[in-house]
Amino acid sequence: MHGKVLLIPGSAEITNQKISMKNITVVGAGTMGNGIAHVFALKGFRVHLIDASEAALEKAMQTIEKNLQRQVSKGIINEVEKQETLQRIFTFFNIAEGVQQADLVIEAATENSEIKKSIFKQLDENAHPDCILATNTSSISITQLANVTNRPNKVIGMHFMNPVPVMKLVEVINGKETSEATTNTIVELTKLLDKIPCVVKDAPGFIANRILMPMINEAIHAFAEGISDAATIDQIMKLGMAHPMGPLQLADYIGLDVCKNILDIMNTGFNNEKYAPCPLLVNMVAQGKLGVKTGEGFYKY
Ligand code: NAD
Repeated sequence: MHGKVLLIPGSAEITNQKISMKNITVVGAGTMGNGIAHVFALKGFRVHLIDASEAALEKAMQTIEKNLQRQVSKGIINEVEKQETLQRIFTFFNIAEGVQQADLVIEAATENSEIKKSIFKQLDENAHPDCILATNTSSISITQLANVTNRPNKVIGMHFMNPVPVMKLVEVINGKETSEATTNTIVELTKLLDKIPCVVKDAPGFIANRILMPMINEAIHAFAEGISDAATIDQIMKLGMAHPMGPLQLADYIGLDVCKNILDIMNTGFNNEKYAPCPLLVNMVAQGKLGVKTGEGFYKY
């Protein structure tokens, strides 16, 4: 399986000599899953995209098409590459069916540890024993997910940023038993996607969200206290800290439910109330105001 240059019919060459993977399965076709499927398929991998919801799969394929078209308009890819990329993505409802040929699975389902544990059990039962099981979780313990499988050395965090086709960072998270070989494979694979891997240890929120989420939460507290309006809070952080996007707008893009879940996990994981989600965030999630994906969060879309 090693040291070959792979050529999948009608595909781009997968040219990194250290990578022998061809088949990637992505579980969860939401905001992140469709972006992950997009970048792997564009690089020539055959991608199986699994979701429990038919509507999510349909929406994901439409989003991938739209985002590929945007890359065509910008001259990043051509029309033929767009069509070939779409032809490399296959959709499934059933985990057992969708993982059979996978060299790597990336789980990008809802940020809920019970859901993820159940998915990891199914992945472990159905995927080839050599298959690496990665998760795109923002905050859930990699070690805990690894512990529900019989291959904890092949379980790792591969935390892409939103929007996946644009953002360069992939936070690579080692669980307690992740092997060096698994980490090295994921690091090389990340580079092959033209992204930059940063390897960290397993802890609630890892690095990215441990620093980002308290900032977002504090911005929501300031907004809830009426210290300023959303646009001004965002403007202050953009102009003052050279952030490309303010924290409230960013929260809308990430999804307010995702933000709340990450804060809950850090609150529990560190046993520290400083991470408790602001009551306004909790209320907005309860009202279904989840940000861009539902058309309303701190802004209307
Ligand atoms: P999302 O809500 O947009 O999508 C999740 C998808 O998972 C949904 O389509 C849902 O139908 C599907 N799903 C739920 N249970 C399933 C199951 N048992 N089997 C198959 N599919 C199932 O969520 P998202 O924002 O794409 O987040 C996915 C993961 O990525 C989460 O772990 C999140 O923390 C992480 N993440 C999100 C962002 C972000 O900006 N949104 C950034 C980095 C990482």
